[in-house]
Amino acid sequence: MSHQHRLDTGAEFEAVIGLEVHCQLATESKIFCSCPARRVEGKSVSEIAPNLNSCPICAAHPGTLPVLNRKVVEYAIRAGLATHCTIAKNNVFARKNYFYPDLPKGYQISQYDKPICENGFIEISTGSVLRKIPIQRIHMEEDAGKSVHSGSYTTVNLNRAGVPLVEIVSGPDLRSAEEAGAYLRALYAIVTYIGICDGNLQEGNFRCDANVSVMPKGSKVLGTRAEIKNVNSFKFVEKAIEYEIVRQISVIQGGGKIVQETRTYDADQDITISMRSKEEAHDYRYFPDPDLVSVQIDDAWIERVRKSLPELPEQKKTRYVEELGLSVYDAGVLTGSQTLAGFFEQVLELLEKSGIAAKSGAKPVANLLTGEVARRLNEEAIEITQSLLKPEHLSDAVQLLQSEALSSTGAKQLLSIAWKTGEKVSVIVSREGLTQVSDVSTLEPAIDQVIAANPKQVGAFRAAPEENAKLIGFFVGQVMKATGGKANPGMLQELIKTRLLKG
Ligand SMILES: [Zn+2]
Repeated sequence: MSHQHRLDTGAEFEAVIGLEVHCQLATESKIFCSCPARRVEGKSVSEIAPNLNSCPICAAHPGTLPVLNRKVVEYAIRAGLATHCTIAKNNVFARKNYFYPDLPKGYQISQYDKPICENGFIEISTGSVLRKIPIQRIHMEEDAGKSVHSGSYTTVNLNRAGVPLVEIVSGPDLRSAEEAGAYLRALYAIVTYIGICDGNLQEGNFRCDANVSVMPKGSKVLGTRAEIKNVNSFKFVEKAIEYEIVRQISVIQGGGKIVQETRTYDADQDITISMRSKEEAHDYRYFPDPDLVSVQIDDAWIERVRKSLPELPEQKKTRYVEELGLSVYDAGVLTGSQTLAGFFEQVLELLEKSGIAAKSGAKPVANLLTGEVARRLNEEAIEITQSLLKPEHLSDAVQLLQSEALSSTGAKQLLSIAWKTGEKVSVIVSREGLTQVSDVSTLEPAIDQVIAANPKQVGAFRAAPEENAKLIGFFVGQVMKATGGKANPGMLQELIKTRLLKG
């Protein structure tokens, strides 16, 4: 069941949204012990039998001590540099105290007042508007285990306990559900480009808490906020925020007050539901963890990490626009996913090998990828590398397009078949008869026939070619029909015009 939330804020209210993203780091082992953090014998840690992926440190046996995984610090520095943050030289881990069965220590090791990264930003674009959204902080922490509720009892699974995370906190600077979605997609692209996160949304590798409040337009005082917990799809975050904004405005307009609370999003009903009143930071009694020494990061380490960073999405986007002549929109779609950008670049390489320069191949390749292909990827929620489409399909299609052996409609048909079957372009084209006729000797007899069959239109055109220029379209249509839609339309237009004017 789904219903439409109509955003009727009038001119009275504006929304203020801040996002906290938990991003699972793609390190081989956990943050404070040597248990695997990603995969065990080909399975993800959430797929293997409960508690098999845990040790005395994961289970907080008395006398055990945590040992920090150096890779976690390196990945957090990567995240900070890619989002223009300042990296703290002195890092302290803190205990965040709370009781929950899936947290056997009784506290989570996190960072509090000294996070590893602060004061950065990322760029987002919605429509043609480009905005810088501040990143307040990024800190390192461990994931908790999982409570599994079944009937009258609950069991605990510690397979995920101690899996390393970074929490990335934006400033409360997002103004709409659409901007929140754009921010999440941009951040997702960054963490997957720099290789610190596997980016598997179904497994919760990248999940989001949204803080939402509304206030009278132009006000400087933020409204009371509600936090929507643990949403792991971009679309659901947008829907949850949209619902929440409308809910809060209607509470205020009805004379009520917003309570500070934690809410959950119910995707089936497309609503948010109250879970519990929200804790304040002081409820957690944070204090420095005495079991861990502070982590010193020197400039040399930061520079080493900086040098190892790949081209980032925004840099790639600028290069596509400036060097390849793509539109900002096309460049944005292509660089929105690392795999799509990689695929695009592979197609350009193949074209270059066949003598088509990147600059002249880029636009037609982008047209094919950002239209139908991007739509299908979204619909099926997969990466292009998981589809049957290969770079060869695109490079072959573009070569046929450029030699005018294939029309743009033909190219779309070709790709939609390749998407389903993965067959070679040559196989599909010859079986489906997709090539277009650009051969004058084949087209001319068809033109002759159509002209002979329509003397009235021929007469009208010849009497006043300027006023009746539209009639050329009529003749093009007739010849197209006669050739089963396979004539090259540009060429046809020229041939018909010349033929009619010649008399
Ligand atoms: Zn362990």
